[in-house]
Amino acid sequence: MKNYSIWSLFRNAFSGHCNWPQALPDVAPQDQYDAVIVGGGGHGLAAAYYLAKNHGVTNIAVLEKSWLGGGNVARNTTIVRSNYFHEARGRLTEQALKLWENLSRELNFNVMFSPRGIINLAHSTAQLDDYARLGNAMTVRGVNAELLTVGQIKQLVPCLDTRPEARFPITGGLMQRRAGTARHDAVAWGYGRAAALRGVDIVQNCEVTGIVRQGGKVIGIDTTRGRIRTPKVGICVAGASSRVSEMAEIRLPLENHLLQACVTEPVKPILNTIVTHGLFNFYISQTDKGELVMGGDIDGYNRYSTFGELPPLEAAIRACLSLFPSFSRLRLMRTWGGVVDMSMDGSPILSKTSLDGFYINAGWCYGGFKATPAVGQVLAQMMATDETPELAAPFVLDRFHSGHIIAEEGKGPKPWLYH
Ligand SMILES: Cc1cc2nc3c(=O)[nH]c(=O)nc-3n(C[C@H](O)[C@H](O)[C@H](O)COP(=O)(O)OP(=O)(O)OC[C@H]3O[C@@H](n4cnc5c(N)ncnc54)[C@H](O)[C@@H]3O)c2cc1C
Repeated sequence: MKNYSIWSLFRNAFSGHCNWPQALPDVAPQDQYDAVIVGGGGHGLAAAYYLAKNHGVTNIAVLEKSWLGGGNVARNTTIVRSNYFHEARGRLTEQALKLWENLSRELNFNVMFSPRGIINLAHSTAQLDDYARLGNAMTVRGVNAELLTVGQIKQLVPCLDTRPEARFPITGGLMQRRAGTARHDAVAWGYGRAAALRGVDIVQNCEVTGIVRQGGKVIGIDTTRGRIRTPKVGICVAGASSRVSEMAEIRLPLENHLLQACVTEPVKPILNTIVTHGLFNFYISQTDKGELVMGGDIDGYNRYSTFGELPPLEAAIRACLSLFPSFSRLRLMRTWGGVVDMSMDGSPILSKTSLDGFYINAGWCYGGFKATPAVGQVLAQMMATDETPELAAPFVLDRFHSGHIIAEEGKGPKPWLYH
């Protein structure tokens, strides 16, 4: 595998771009590794990359049961932001945002990070006060936030219905300008390729079926392609977190729900920022191809299937049309879903466990894509040193026993509401 450069682009142009080498080698698993990461989504591949790059641990493998980018990393709506009230989440996502800003260069792969800003709309003065508090909390941490008037919002998003007689009148909003979007599947390919270049084995079509333990320690894993000896296993399996942890006899406080999204037909540029509804869980942005991509709330029943129900999509579209009545003339082209791992306080679990050598990264609910680079760094550090990095300390699994839960002041995802 070679680095991409202007010269390689130039050279390959002469052969009609038919001779590019394979971007990622097809590797068979070895019998033994110093560490194994289960799950070839964004989080797992980023962790492998930083293990190799920051800690020099290269005798490692990422095991993916299907293909790279087949999970939520390529099913999400690509929003990247760090506008959290809670300090722990704010710090982790801000660390990620700083990494996003230079990620294409770092990976030598265009992840198409587009810092187009996010506006959270407010629909009452009380809500605007709340956003002012959120903006202050961000500013105190050194993260830029701007409270916008209705006039300023109208300038930024002319197609938004800002009339006082609108269905949900807008009273203002909070903007994080550095927030944006990134090309989700390119993130998996970029991290995968960069990790493979550093010697990491990326093994596709290899499902982990068991965790082998001895005296309170991990000593290996069973897979559909045989047993692998390893003293360290990190799991980054999103919607399969409970199932894989159960193989290590660890129960997680998670529920699985389907989260759906949809896109319209492509149109000319009309929406330059990401917009979220203040009253419903609804968000929308425009892709580089011109489609309007939007999503809403999780489906009502716990499930592992990606076959979704209509009501959550209908609710998202109703919320969309209440803000952008003119979008009613667009055709909806595609819908899809991904199984998300909803934790009981709405915050992730990034933690060592009672089983030596078994590390968990799970519970990212609707929002793990934005954290991908930071999760990779933090999990890599945890696995390399067997210590809990400062950024991960609030997210330990034990918080559910000790009661130190991280609720985003009533704003986090609440899976229990949907029982
Ligand atoms: C519709 C939707 C919209 C979203 N929008 C956003 C957003 O705008 N912003 C945001 O920040 N987040 C968003 N998210 C959440 C985000 O996508 C996830 O939190 C994040 O992608 C999870 O991390 P991951 O990329 O590693 O997961 P995945 O890509 O799901 O990776 C996990 C991998 O583990 C593999 N696996 C599972 N079990 C095994 C096993 N036994 N053995 C081997 N491999 C296994 C799976 O095949 C999968 O490839 C959204 C999610 C969905 C579904």
